[in-house]
Amino acid sequence: MASKLLIAFLLGAISMTVVSAQNFDFFYFVQQWPGSYCDTDSGCCFPLSGSPGAQFGIHGLWPNYNDGGYPSDCGGDSFDPNVLSDVLTDLNREWGSLACPSSDSESFWSHEWTKHGTCSGFSQHDYFKAALNLYNQYDLTGGLAAAGINPDGSQYKVEDIRNALKSVLGQLPGIQCNKDQSGNRQLYQVYVCVATDGQTVIQCPVFPKNECKGSVEFPVYQSNSAASSDANVLRSDL
Ligand code: 5GP
Ligand code: 5GP
Repeated sequence: MASKLLIAFLLGAISMTVVSAQNFDFFYFVQQWPGSYCDTDSGCCFPLSGSPGAQFGIHGLWPNYNDGGYPSDCGGDSFDPNVLSDVLTDLNREWGSLACPSSDSESFWSHEWTKHGTCSGFSQHDYFKAALNLYNQYDLTGGLAAAGINPDGSQYKVEDIRNALKSVLGQLPGIQCNKDQSGNRQLYQVYVCVATDGQTVIQCPVFPKNECKGSVEFPVYQSNSAASSDANVLRSDL
């Protein structure tokens, strides 16, 4: 009897270890500039909770490997908004979905949890909370403004952008661009590298593919350019 109990205990301990193991090397904490998400051929729609402010917003917290690959869809708990009630206000403000049609953002959060969060080793609540804590600790938009880099439609050197963000983060982030409707490259996403604890910014072991170089536009974003909750596609030139 005692030996059966011991075996059951050991099996339980082993399965807990497997479930909680962090099988990745670091996180990319990815933030998006709403003006660049919106100023594309497909445009954007403001979330039903209201238009995001003129600041970077959260895209996701993504487990990654040092070789540039990444795990995804690791199974476990399916998305449950009920466990997020205490962070819902912050999620709506910092992690709103700009995809069309306008939504309550839950399908965006569900996608991020299912694809990336399930590989993080965190519970769903702790995963979203870790991203919000990081967001609140490092003000990318303010850091750029302090270096004279503003969303005014001008061109800025990517190296200047990276260095300005290093002043905020202590480390160089990855910078990704997309193209506006005229095909001009614009500042789109910032990739901050974070240790597996979900808290400590680290030197990037590898930078994301398709980083941009040279000079790029930092487009204007008007958070009050139209009614925030309708399903109209919004573009910065409308
Ligand atoms: P895209 O191909 O548009 O750059 O990325 C599509 C999606 O693939 C991203 O939103 C993200 O879910 C995932 N993805 C792309 N690049 C990376 C990466 O370097 N690391 C991780 N963890 N996910 C990525
Ligand atoms: P990822 O590229 O992270 O794998 O996938 C992002 C998914 O979330 C896509 O299906 C995209 O349509 C959806 N999505 C919803 N809202 C947003 C948003 O504000 N930004 C981005 N990048 N994707 C969003």
